[in-house]
Formats: sequence, C-alpha cells, structure tokens
Amino acid sequence: MTWRTRSSLAWLREQPGVRENEPLASRTSFGIGGPADFFLELARADAIERTIDGCKQRGIPYLLLGAGTNLLIADRGVDGLVVRVVNRDHEIEGTRVRAGAGLKMMRLARIVADANLRGFEFAIGVPGTVGGAVYQDAGCWGKEIREVLLEVEGYLPGKGRQKWSPGVLNLGYRTSALREGALTGALVISATVQLERGDGEAAKQLMAKLTRERNETQPIKTKNCGSVFKNPPGDSAGRLVQAAGLKGAREGAAVVSTVHGNFIVNEGGATAADVRRLIERVMVEVKRRFGLQIEPEVEMVGRWK
Ligand SMILES: Cc1cc2nc3c(=O)[nH]c(=O)nc-3n(C[C@H](O)[C@H](O)[C@H](O)COP(=O)(O)OP(=O)(O)OC[C@H]3O[C@@H](n4cnc5c(N)ncnc54)[C@H](O)[C@@H]3O)c2cc1C
Repeated sequence: MTWRTRSSLAWLREQPGVRENEPLASRTSFGIGGPADFFLELARADAIERTIDGCKQRGIPYLLLGAGTNLLIADRGVDGLVVRVVNRDHEIEGTRVRAGAGLKMMRLARIVADANLRGFEFAIGVPGTVGGAVYQDAGCWGKEIREVLLEVEGYLPGKGRQKWSPGVLNLGYRTSALREGALTGALVISATVQLERGDGEAAKQLMAKLTRERNETQPIKTKNCGSVFKNPPGDSAGRLVQAAGLKGAREGAAVVSTVHGNFIVNEGGATAADVRRLIERVMVEVKRRFGLQIEPEVEMVGRWK
C-alpha cells in the first residue's frame, strides 16, 4: 500500500490510455479475477519500457499481462499497474523469425507454416503469447520453445535493453530466470527463433491432426488455464489426479475436469478462491496417496491476503 502516494497516483493517472479499476477476468482464459488498480494496453516496446521504469522508480508494483492463459488472478484484483503487452509484429529472414512478445504462439505457428518453415508446429498447442511462452519455456507434444530459441530482446527496468541467450534465460521445464531468477520483473520485447525450410502444407496438416487429437482428450472449449500442475519427473500430474479419484472434485463452480485430470474448469461464476482451494485440496490428496508433492504450473497473482 506504501506506493499509493499522491504523486504516484497522479503519475499513473497521467499515462495516456490508462484505465482505473479495470476488470481483468475477461482478459484471462479462466474468466476469473478482480480488477487492476490501473491498466494499460501498450503495443510499442519503448512505451512499455518507459512505463515499467516509471513504476520501478516510484515503487509501484506492476504485472505484465500476455494472453492471460496461465494466470489465476485473485478475486480482490491486482495491486498497482497491469500492462497488457500487445506488440504483435514479426519479421522473417530466411529461416530466422523474430516475433513481438504480444503475438500469439498459435498465430505465429500459422504464419511460419505459410512461409514454408518447419519446427514450430508444437506452438499450435500453446494459446499464450510469445512473451508468455519465453517466460516459462512453454511447450507442447514433447517440444519446448527453448529448442528453437536463438535470442530474446528484453528490457530490465533500471538497466535498459538487453539481449538474452537461452543460457542467460536459464530456461527449463515451465521456468526461466524471468519467472524465478535474475530477470524477474523484466519485459520480453521479442524472441528470435531458428526454424527449418520445409513443406508448409505438411506443417499445417500436422497442426490440424495435433489439434484434433487435443480436442478429443482435453476440455479445450471450457474456461480453464491449460495444465494446472507441472508433471513430476517421470510421471504425469493428470494421471496422479485421476488415480487419486479426484476427477470431478469440486469447490464452488471450480471442477477438476472429467475429461483430463490436470485441468480445472470454471463452470461459470467460479471465484479465484474456489480454484485455489481445489488446487490445494488436490495437492494434499496426491501427497497423501502417493507421497508426491506436485507443484502448480498456473501462476497465482494479485491480492490474495
Ligand atoms: C487451453 C490451454 C492449453 C494450454 N496448453 C499449454 C501447453 O500445451 N503448453 C504450455 O506450455 N502451456 C499451455 N498453456 C498455458 C499457457 O498458454 C502458457 O503458459 C503460455 O506461455 C502463457 O502465455 P500468456 O501470454 O497467456 O501469459 P500470461 O498468462 O498472460 O502470463 C503468464 C506469465 O508470463 C508473464 N509474461 C507475459 N508476457 C510477458 C512479457 N512480454 N514479458 C515478460 N513476462 C511476460 C506474465 O507477467 C505472467 O507472469 C495452456 C493454456 C490453456 C488455456
């Protein structure tokens, strides 16, 4: 609360396009969560940089928002400023592709297939943005973004623009130095991936097949956040949840999917507290039954206390 000085509030209110007490639920795939104190949607990297620098200087907390597909936002909303990152440019040079952080991975998968490039088909399973994918090394069907990533352009408030190699980003299964490490609070501006020349039609056919298979095995058309839990080494969280008899378990309007054990579905009107209680119940029950501590993949943000 200490950041709420008269001058910080005045500075926030001066930002072009800023909205106060802005609902966030509709900006997440869960459809859950309270409002942002302040909200901005920015498409230019330099504007985002100036804004987060300004926050840092004034001690105003900020949250970078991509497509909101891996977030559980608290019912009481988010303190400070939420910046939705929507720079969606891209450039293709031979087999190298640079994409703005706000571009959706699925859209980029189609763009590169149209350009007869292969190696990015896995991204058709990731509904988030390029920035969100770098943040936690998103991947699907056994392939992760780090396997094609050449370099990331980013911005560390107070330190300026930087180029980060995959090594510096310390990418690992659903983690990075951005999520937990030296780069927390940094902005991904764009990512450059190295792909291969190939048959774009074959890439599209493969993506269509993978999407069909996924639609049959996951509750894709519901309000959810994808996998709720990380898979423990050598096992699958979905299998453990199912084996613990938790498919269909419910807290309020939040339900463990009967289609896939690693999905929690907002049936309509679920609160963040419902989902959190269900997550904690599943973790306790899996630990009790199998002695395994599973960890959430979904990130819980905002005012929980
Ligand atoms: C139906 C469904 C299926 C899914 N399947 C998969 C899957 O197969 N594999 C997988 O890995 N994930 C999957 N997900 C989860 C999700 O799509 C990924 O985690 C994705 O990478 C999140 O990106 P986002 O843009 O939605 O990020 P958000 O949810 O908006 O944000 C997540 C985190 O990323 C940070 N962030 C976002 N943009 C930036 C940026 N530009 N710079 C710095 N930080 C940033 C945010 O601050 C936040 O901490 C699925 C989700 C759904 C709803």
